[in-house]
Amino acid sequence: MDKALVIIASGNKDKMREIQQIFRDRHFEVKRAMDVGPVLDVVEDGTTFAENAYLKAKAYHDLYPDAYILADDSGLEVDPLDGRPGIYSARYGGVDWSYEDKSKLLWEELRKTGLKPEDWTARFRCAICFWEKVKEEPKTFEGAMEGLVIPERRGENGFGYDPLFFLPQYGKTSAEISPDLKNKISHRANALAQLEAYLNTL
Ligand code: IMP
Repeated sequence: MDKALVIIASGNKDKMREIQQIFRDRHFEVKRAMDVGPVLDVVEDGTTFAENAYLKAKAYHDLYPDAYILADDSGLEVDPLDGRPGIYSARYGGVDWSYEDKSKLLWEELRKTGLKPEDWTARFRCAICFWEKVKEEPKTFEGAMEGLVIPERRGENGFGYDPLFFLPQYGKTSAEISPDLKNKISHRANALAQLEAYLNTL
């Protein structure tokens, strides 16, 4: 039987790689937006991860009403910074800033709070918006992964803020654990597991 096609509404190669890996061996063939047509420049002016995921999914649903669309919006929420950078994680400092520079800004802001690094609690959050073909409304699934920001970058795996995101239960950052493990425990894996459970009910 042919696998149904799901288009990932994103231009972020790292996220797409993880989503494709998580969907490996599932009933769906997952393709990147860039492999099927244009990459849309969606204005993410929502106030939550779920709203921004919806906006990205809607833009691609309008373009491909006969396809399944999957959009991810995610980011790092840091408690001592009242949840920042949150939905602005990709734009923190500036869109063109490297993650080394974004990390330095984050540490600088955290040091200013006067709190010790053991109190730099944080979590990655992810909202997945899944738009079934020809449906009026999509479904949203949300996941989180708890940890701590550490004052250095460690590890070569993952992307973005992974090297400074420490997972106490593994004694490693999310850039030091294997990609397979990250894809089992991450905020994204968590949201996609809920999507998968939903798909299994169809
Ligand atoms: P978005 O493309 O607007 O959803 O931006 C998500 C941003 O959040 C990414 O560019 C990263 O900065 C950060 N982020 C989200 N998920 C992860 C992750 O799994 N590891 C590291 N950084 C992440």
